[in-house]
Amino acid sequence: MRIILSIFLLLFISSCKPIDNIDNTRNIEPEVFETKPSIVFDVIRIRSVPRIETFWANQMPEFIFCKSSGISRTRASQGISYWRRLGYPIENVRYNVEGPECESDTPEGKVVIKIIDNTIPIHQNLAVTKVYYETESKMIRRSTIYLIRAYANRPRLIEHEIGHSLGWKHYNRNLHVMNSEYDRTGHDSTGLRYSNYLELILNFY
Ligand SMILES: [Zn+2]
Repeated sequence: MRIILSIFLLLFISSCKPIDNIDNTRNIEPEVFETKPSIVFDVIRIRSVPRIETFWANQMPEFIFCKSSGISRTRASQGISYWRRLGYPIENVRYNVEGPECESDTPEGKVVIKIIDNTIPIHQNLAVTKVYYETESKMIRRSTIYLIRAYANRPRLIEHEIGHSLGWKHYNRNLHVMNSEYDRTGHDSTGLRYSNYLELILNFY
């Protein structure tokens, strides 16, 4: 019987609201451990470490930043450097690309950063990342990051979306780069090192 390799699509939605929509009443309170045992469980609001559900197995993808996405070479390279500093062996990166990769479906083994089109539901998000992976193994085959030109160069946005393209899920600790709300993102990269990634991958085998 012919084996059909089914590729599933995971749509990450960056629930990132514009800065002028900050609702100060909803700020996350600092974690304070109560002395009363009866409410100990109330302080556990978030997962203890960031998680992946899909992953790049053998080598890092090639990153292709399309000129049409509106992201500057500076912001793009800062985003790549962020993940390289965390230990990810990202080698192949192309900037300001106008080639066929930007006009058609993302090829296997690549992450393409392109302008959003009208086939992608954007809702209130600042960007959307699609991750295509094998259903059984959870191995990522390709990812596409869709940017909106007006927001493409926002601080921390491309860092966040590259995280999704690598398989990282949202992690709602205040000022963490993978926080689902843009206004609460920061440069905290706790749990995101490549060594953490490799440890989590072991759980899939
Ligand atoms: Zn996100």
